[in-house]
Amino acid sequence: MEDRSIELFARARKVIPGGVNSPVRACHNVQSSPLFIQRGCASHLFDVDGGEYIDFVLSWGPMILGHSDPDVTAAITCAAACGTSYGAPCEAEVELACEVVKAMPSLEMVRMVNSGTEATMSALRLARACTKRDKVIKFIGCYHGHADPFLAAAGSGLATFSIPGTPGVPAHVVGDTLLAAYNDLEQVKAIFQRFPQEIACVIVEPVACNMGLVLPEEGFLAGLRELTRAHGALLIFDEVITGFRCALGGAQSRFGIDPDLTTMGKIIGGGLPVGAFGGKRCYMEHIAPEGEVYQAGTLSGNPLAMAAGLATLRKLQNQDYAALERRTQNFARELASILASKQVPVQVPTLASMFSVFFTAEPLKDFASVKTADQALFTTFYKQMRAQGIYLAPSSFETGMVSFVHSDEDFARTLEAATKVHF
Ligand SMILES: *Cc1c(COP(=O)(O)O)cnc(C)c1O
Repeated sequence: MEDRSIELFARARKVIPGGVNSPVRACHNVQSSPLFIQRGCASHLFDVDGGEYIDFVLSWGPMILGHSDPDVTAAITCAAACGTSYGAPCEAEVELACEVVKAMPSLEMVRMVNSGTEATMSALRLARACTKRDKVIKFIGCYHGHADPFLAAAGSGLATFSIPGTPGVPAHVVGDTLLAAYNDLEQVKAIFQRFPQEIACVIVEPVACNMGLVLPEEGFLAGLRELTRAHGALLIFDEVITGFRCALGGAQSRFGIDPDLTTMGKIIGGGLPVGAFGGKRCYMEHIAPEGEVYQAGTLSGNPLAMAAGLATLRKLQNQDYAALERRTQNFARELASILASKQVPVQVPTLASMFSVFFTAEPLKDFASVKTADQALFTTFYKQMRAQGIYLAPSSFETGMVSFVHSDEDFARTLEAATKVHF
């Protein structure tokens, strides 16, 4: 049934490390091999063996309008006909920058890059330059891409594979990365007290999405804003997932917090490789060539990628985020009740169009609590759902994504599949 996928994976492993170009895709920890995808259409994926799946991964977040959205596809096709890269400014860059600045409340200026990783590493460089300080506070289980300084107790693939850090990152490079538990303001306070005048910035996923979905507790984000202000450090919101998903204006608009810098990715490229970092003019002006902080990219502001991002953001302005949130909540509530009826400890937290399935009764507030989730139960759940055509992220340290084109029938079929899972 998965013959061609298995055959392609065997070939891939000979020429690509682990057979994949990003680790979690390998489906290792759920004792499965990856499906090779042939095409996607709206909320469905089709694999090379003719299997059809309801997709709750959505390329890990970008495809909030679903796969091959006709308007986004038309914009890309139209742009491609005019050439695919110029290494010179194009109009679409200006248009997309304007849309991003308009959508995200805290932004005055934005610079386009090619991935979320580039966005966070550039924002960190800028924060260090602006404060003339080196240290950064990050939260255990939060993921900010794979740049060296963030590879300490990170989420996503590192959580999935239980990699505390990684070989190849010199100790002194993560030596300035200070760790706190998510939702624990007291720890952040203590770090500021220990290193007054040394902390350049606090970087946080305003809603943690890379240890599974963990919501910020009341007062956590506002507390970070106060502490950073009081200590002359910058607050960086990593909105690579939450940007344009929590709300069009990201988590910052939803929670009413005004970060100094914001990083974006995923949805901003409409499925093409785009990241961005932006923030207050007084900081962004330090970026070259206006300022002295070097940051560059041969393919940054690529016309195809800008066209895809622009078509996506413009379409999102007319989408009903509140309705999608209600539908996702109902779905998550029903999924939780179906699974709970099978006598397993389970929680399905949800926010906006995101959800996670954790097999634990422990209250979920940080990485230590999500780690109590039973991985064997998750693997059983994942495999049986996939066998019934439901495509979930292959790790409970990832967040389920719903698009504007998931239908009531998609939800009903998914819930029906869940009723058939045996633990
Ligand atoms: C995905 C992600 C990144 C990294 O983005 P890439 O495009 O994969 O480099 C950074 N931060 C967060 C919060 C992410 O979810």
